[in-house]
Amino acid sequence: MIPENPYDPVLEDNVTAYGKDAATDLVTAAADQATQDNASDYGIMVAQAKPAAPGGVPAPAREFKKQTCDKKALGVCLREYQEGDNKYRIFVANSSFDDIDLTVRLSAIENLEVSRKADKIDVDDSEIHKFVIKPRQTGTDEQHLFDLTKRDKSAKVVGYDAIPQEVHRGNPNATPDGTLYSLPYPKGANDNKGYKITQGFGGQGTHQSKSAVDFDMPADRDVAAARAGVVADLKGDSAVEGSGNESDKDKWNFIRIRHKEDGTVAIYGHLKKGGVKVKIGDQVKLAQVIGVSGNSGYSTGAHLHFEVAVADGQGRWKATNPNWKFRDKDGKPLEPKERPEPYKNE
Ligand SMILES: [Zn+2]
Repeated sequence: MIPENPYDPVLEDNVTAYGKDAATDLVTAAADQATQDNASDYGIMVAQAKPAAPGGVPAPAREFKKQTCDKKALGVCLREYQEGDNKYRIFVANSSFDDIDLTVRLSAIENLEVSRKADKIDVDDSEIHKFVIKPRQTGTDEQHLFDLTKRDKSAKVVGYDAIPQEVHRGNPNATPDGTLYSLPYPKGANDNKGYKITQGFGGQGTHQSKSAVDFDMPADRDVAAARAGVVADLKGDSAVEGSGNESDKDKWNFIRIRHKEDGTVAIYGHLKKGGVKVKIGDQVKLAQVIGVSGNSGYSTGAHLHFEVAVADGQGRWKATNPNWKFRDKDGKPLEPKERPEPYKNE
């Protein structure tokens, strides 16, 4: 049975401990070096041993063994280390700025005890472990998953095989926290008239079953962040404009910003070619100008598409319930809907 919430609290602890835990820093340093120096040839990287505790014995050195990266090139790699003769330690490196929904398949386990018991499914001769990995943090991208420890220390034979079997962007358990969104353009925009919503939630055009809105924004207007966050994905180089073919849906220019408070994302779409003013990993402030409007991709005229979404567990973003709202100038909820009056940002 798949557990309701495969989130591993160990990861949370691990993330908050970064920069404070000498052992973690040690691993990170070794792994960073492995990435830089050894990208195509994963030899054994020997990290320095942890200093001995007073009167104690030195901890065994940790050796970098190998790294296996996801096939979709989302920037997720399993990193395996050996510590002493009896312990293997498995970490994951997430070089993306997204949460990652990760399934690790462990097979051919011989004479080893796996430290992780929760959120595990036994299939035939394999163990399937599910995780939700935090986005990369400043200065490090490595997080601990589990360890394998030798059962019978006198026996020589040990073995296991670990692969990242499924890797998807986003936390499928993310729950919107009810934050109200600013209008996605600067104060006083459009000679202080603001813009109209021409297609609202569940719109019969392209928003069926979507909590997304289209503003009647002409090309070359400033687009501003409706909520603070980190730029997780973008496209700014598409020259496809005003296409009537749904197959050109992915050829729009867009910015996707992750909100750290609840793991939701906001998507700003149909931007102008070259109209993306941020980079992946940028911290964006509320109301910061992030792009320029346009008519790129599957679109019948210049407009701004805006949505708040969560991951569906299959690598797609679904803009859905609970229905998010804008915030008016008094901080009150403002329902986004198709109506004759524009939404003035004041
Ligand atoms: Zn739209």
